[in-house]
Amino acid sequence: MAAFESGNGELGELRRLLSESQRIVAFTGAGISTESGIPDFRSPGGIWSRIKPITFQEFMASEEARLEDWRRRFEMNRVYGDARPNIAHLALAHLVAEGRSPGVVTQNIDGLHVRGGLAPERLVELHGNATRAHCLACRRHYELDAIEDRIAAEGRAPRCEDCGGFIKSAIVSFGEQMPEDEMRRAFELAEECDLMLVLGSSLQVQPAASVPLVAKRAGARLVILNREATPLDEVSELALQGEIGATLAGVFPQLIGEHH
Ligand SMILES: [Zn+2]
Repeated sequence: MAAFESGNGELGELRRLLSESQRIVAFTGAGISTESGIPDFRSPGGIWSRIKPITFQEFMASEEARLEDWRRRFEMNRVYGDARPNIAHLALAHLVAEGRSPGVVTQNIDGLHVRGGLAPERLVELHGNATRAHCLACRRHYELDAIEDRIAAEGRAPRCEDCGGFIKSAIVSFGEQMPEDEMRRAFELAEECDLMLVLGSSLQVQPAASVPLVAKRAGARLVILNREATPLDEVSELALQGEIGATLAGVFPQLIGEHH
């Protein structure tokens, strides 16, 4: 897909909105990662329309489901590991480093924001992080590599060494409660920003999708870059459909070709 055909007018408008803003908060979804080669699980034709996701309840109830969940995690982590942050990830890290953005809220679990240079404490991961694991009971952290070795050696889903609870990758599964701290931080960022920049989210998954709406209601401007139209396009200052990286390359030409 080409960048925006009506091009310069809209790009100029995007530049103006960004340059006029001092507290930019980005809200990112799968569309920013697909441009790094990561499949979008939830989209039509995505992995979850072909392979049924393992719900939190199934994970808790069945050893077979736990082992299958781990197999998928290790496989996906190799996909994440091979992917590279793109210019959109770099642009957001750049805005934070410049002091023009207090943070980024993401629905993604792939770790690409931090690999793109974003300070981890500035990132709110609403759906968790697939590159980490923790005990569901006591929240002790575990390294994924060590878990993979344990499963290979023992053939069983691993239990916590401290409390015996189930260890699970640190993502929010279907049917699992949204993390309270992250939700609170996301809404705080939404309320304090003067511009909310939605990148690659169709704003369909609740409650996460209400974050941009909270920003809008608190007086922030709203800019949406996504492949498809979203339900909030009509209340946004600017909504562009197309490739995110190609668009942001026009705004941040100094970041083109930078890789971490
Ligand atoms: Zn534990």
